[in-house]
Amino acid sequence: MSIHGKNFIGNDLSAQGDKSNKIYDINSNIALEGDFSHATSNEVSKALDLASSAFVVYKQKSQIQRAVFLETIAEEIMNLGDELILRVMSESNLPRPRLEGERGRTVGQLKMFANLLREGSWVEATIDTALPNRAPLPRNDLRKMLRPLGVVSVFEASNFPLAFSCAGGDTASALAAGCPVIVKAHSSHSGTSELVAGAIIKAVIKCDMPSGTFSMVHGSGRVVGQQIVMHDAVCAVGFTGSTYAGMELYKLANTRKHPIPVFAEMGSINPCLFLPSALNDTKKLAASYAFSITLGAGQFCTNPGLIIALKDEKLEIFKKDLAQEIEKVKPATMLSSSIAKAYKENKDKAIAQHGTTVIAQALEDGMISEGKAIVASVAGSEFIKNPTLQEEVFGPYSLLVECENKDELMQVITSLEGQLTATVMGEDYEMDEFSSYIYALENKAGRILFNSVPTGVEVCHSMQHGGPFPAATDARFTSVGTGAIKRFVRPVCFQDCPVSLLPLELRDENELKILRMVDDSYSNESL
Ligand code: NAP
Repeated sequence: MSIHGKNFIGNDLSAQGDKSNKIYDINSNIALEGDFSHATSNEVSKALDLASSAFVVYKQKSQIQRAVFLETIAEEIMNLGDELILRVMSESNLPRPRLEGERGRTVGQLKMFANLLREGSWVEATIDTALPNRAPLPRNDLRKMLRPLGVVSVFEASNFPLAFSCAGGDTASALAAGCPVIVKAHSSHSGTSELVAGAIIKAVIKCDMPSGTFSMVHGSGRVVGQQIVMHDAVCAVGFTGSTYAGMELYKLANTRKHPIPVFAEMGSINPCLFLPSALNDTKKLAASYAFSITLGAGQFCTNPGLIIALKDEKLEIFKKDLAQEIEKVKPATMLSSSIAKAYKENKDKAIAQHGTTVIAQALEDGMISEGKAIVASVAGSEFIKNPTLQEEVFGPYSLLVECENKDELMQVITSLEGQLTATVMGEDYEMDEFSSYIYALENKAGRILFNSVPTGVEVCHSMQHGGPFPAATDARFTSVGTGAIKRFVRPVCFQDCPVSLLPLELRDENELKILRMVDDSYSNESL
């Protein structure tokens, strides 16, 4: 299959644009196959008009029909075979095992949402039947459930070219909810996006979903992305990336005549609190944290970018052990040359801050496209005063904050901004003694972990991947796990609604029986 570089306007391919871009291999600088045509304003409008019309039909599809659709997308992604893996490898520089795992996660997410739809209770159907004889006033028949919001705009993430991109968690949860999706492909892995978009369109056709249920466009975020967010048809936005771009989209969406929610997952430095007892085995702790800090060249939103501990002799031993571990780590190629450049600049800015000292670094400098691991340290008193030290350094970097005493430790914790995760390391006997510090930390994060490392996010029902601002724009929602579907629905109450118009989930058994007698096409299977 060749990469054509066109835009998917519903089920049709189109390339009206006079602007295009190529993608270059980060190491050889050789252009990869494909000339990616930036969507014109015409194409974007056409895709969104189609999505608007598709919504009317798509929202009426039963949960089982949507489940089959999601399962077919998963099947079509697997049918892309090695061509997909090879393309993502060349666009993202991520190794094959990681990408095969990520593909597994992507199809797993689609199937997880399909299972959620088959089970069905997530819609929170709530029925209060009429009480016509109630005194002094009768009660109407009231039935409430979660209904889809409308067209959702998805921005792909550079650090998860499959699991947080074209058919990733945002797309899967929006389609599961009954919302058509328009994806703005990420400019660093447009060929991957095109292959996956092709698989989704095959599933649209196979499952007889309306054209416009899914579209994918290339182009700059500032132009194409912003046009999508400002279009009247769009009802919500899913985004993963930088704080800057996430906030730009959030502010923009609020300038619309009808503001819409932007669910942006932005930066996080994922503070890890080491209680004194965590330092009983400094070698083991250093090995596990060096591994987590440098995993995937540090390009995970749950990277442990901040370690907080009380100053003592054991902390000095930990610093030496950590230095030994970090020295051994070979610099790894980053996702793109712009991310490698940003890492160098941000890391240099962080270590140039007043009172900051480098305590561990990789021995090899690495090439310009590679990220060299660095850990710095700073006193708690300096950290509290300097917000720059809380800025995410996306890459294999972490900062150790050394606190003089427990008062300073509490000040450091309360000075923290919102985070995706917070971790507590220590023995059980100390957890009670430090409970007020741990609860203060909980105020800051969407997920609090004990005795582990923050990298690694399980995709399941109980996961919370989101947190207080600025980690995310709305701490009440998650972008990972089945809960992600709740971002793209709203409660609707049907009052005295004729049975023929009621969504199937709001009909009681008797009403369904009558319906089956009237219309045989509603078999048990379609409910
Ligand atoms: P990004 O710059 O935030 O871009 C993400 C998406 O938003 C891209 O599709 C981009 O379009 C679009 N975009 C960028 N600026 C925009 C704007 N002003 N208006 C509308 N859309 C805009 O993220 P990135 O390129 O993936 O990486 C850049 C930096 O983001 C990294 O160095 C890192 O610091 C951070 N990052 C953080 C995480 C995390 O999980 N915390 C994940 C990824 C990246 P284009 O493709 O046209 O640029």
